[in-house]
Amino acid sequence: MSADPLTPAPVPSEPGFRNAKGEWRPPYPVRYAPLFAWPLRALDILRWLFRYPGFLWPTNLLLFAISAVSWYFTQPAVARCAHFEAGWMLQIYLRNLVMMWLFYGAYHLHLYIRKAEGTKGKYDPHWPAQDSRLFLFRDQVYDNIFWTSGVALLVWTGYEVVTLWLYANHRIPGLEWAAHPVWFVAWIFLIPLWREFHFYWVHRLIHWKPLYKHVHYLHHKNTNPNAWSGMAMHPVETILYLSVVLIHWVVPSHPFHFLFDLQHAALGPASGHHGFEGPILKGKLPTGSYFHYLHHRYFECNYGETTVPLDRWFGTFRDGLPDGAGSNLAGEHRD
Ligand SMILES: [Zn+2]
Ligand SMILES: [Zn+2]
Repeated sequence: MSADPLTPAPVPSEPGFRNAKGEWRPPYPVRYAPLFAWPLRALDILRWLFRYPGFLWPTNLLLFAISAVSWYFTQPAVARCAHFEAGWMLQIYLRNLVMMWLFYGAYHLHLYIRKAEGTKGKYDPHWPAQDSRLFLFRDQVYDNIFWTSGVALLVWTGYEVVTLWLYANHRIPGLEWAAHPVWFVAWIFLIPLWREFHFYWVHRLIHWKPLYKHVHYLHHKNTNPNAWSGMAMHPVETILYLSVVLIHWVVPSHPFHFLFDLQHAALGPASGHHGFEGPILKGKLPTGSYFHYLHHRYFECNYGETTVPLDRWFGTFRDGLPDGAGSNLAGEHRD
């Protein structure tokens, strides 16, 4: 029987089970947010917007708060960015470095060093690979940290430096709160949705065989992902993935919108890849993405996220039920 993926996801409090391979599975299928359900279900949408966990919190509000704090306390004034000077560029690089280690590192410390949740809700029962020739330094976590903190961080900072320079020199359109308060707020709500739309299509693109073979294969070495796998990408993939912010070069926005968009994209993958089904921290923090884990496990499904049902519209959705029980696609992962 096929479950309706356009119904609100249950709060993941029920215990899951392990299949014959020892893989942990939630007892319910992956579902989409009700935003695009038809006929429109206004009450469900309101509930989804404000409930915990829902659209706003914890994830989007947490990322918004991080962006607001970094904007007020750590961002160089835009006027200062009119010339490429080491001072403000280094300030941004170091701020992003600290932010990345705090965010990715917190999940890693809790789940993989302290192992505070054990293997409870861990999709793959194995810990990250060690002494494996597949990974740099023969170690999956060190490999992932190299690509995430060493390489992706540079691309992240590069986008930020160039875009701030463009804002400072009025080469891209701005938007002020005082003149356009409605648009100012609308941007903030639209950014997570725009991110999903962009991610889906970029992700479909890099699954095109030549790009997969030379670029995206690197991220997919992580069939058993951990927090640091989030941005463990070939630099070409990172450039494509973070090109989500290029919309700000064309559509008028405030530099804060750009910062929120960029940090949402740069930090979000930590919770999408850490490999555990929340809630964690004694059941208090809903986190984890079974939807994206299924992509790492089965490769050719679930390219997007769970708010905008692009995978459902384009026939690439897999709900996680045993094969044949739901709207699953055929096939195990390829080599
Ligand atoms: Zn991934
Ligand atoms: Zn992929």
